[in-house]
Amino acid sequence: MKDNNCIFCKIASGDIPSHTVYEDDDFRVILDISPASKGHVLILPKEHAKDIIELKSEKTKRIMEVVKKIGEAQMKAIGATGFNTLINTGASAGQTVFHCHIHVIPRFESEKKILTWNTLSYEDGELEDYATSIIKAL
Ligand code: 5GP
Ligand code: ZN
Repeated sequence: MKDNNCIFCKIASGDIPSHTVYEDDDFRVILDISPASKGHVLILPKEHAKDIIELKSEKTKRIMEVVKKIGEAQMKAIGATGFNTLINTGASAGQTVFHCHIHVIPRFESEKKILTWNTLSYEDGELEDYATSIIKAL
């Protein structure tokens, strides 16, 4: 289903033009307009889902095949020596467009790492508590 207010639905359907590098029945892969590195793409499912949790399971399974295909092509075509795969889910995680998408960002030896974080440490017993709560929620 298409959401008429959703920019990525319009891009995925072809109503709004994009620099498309791959397309099949389920996905369109486009160049990100504000890339973290040149060649940064977004994999857009054609069917609207606000995030990866809403995306249907059969599409979720297929999407990693597309990640592999695109990441490999970025390495062959533009000399990337690696790539980051990123899914922002929810505003607190940095999601700004609420149509599920996966970023595939080519990386080069000469660049600094862009996905870094300061590490924390657990207090005594916290590791067990976090593991137990997540397991209970599965
Ligand atoms: P998010 O922060 O939701 O994970 O990522 C949204 C991404 O979509 C951003 O990297 C942003 O640059 C990209 N973006 C937003 N609007 C457009 C657009 O109209 N066209 C393209 N090609 N990319 C877009
Ligand atoms: Zn949409």
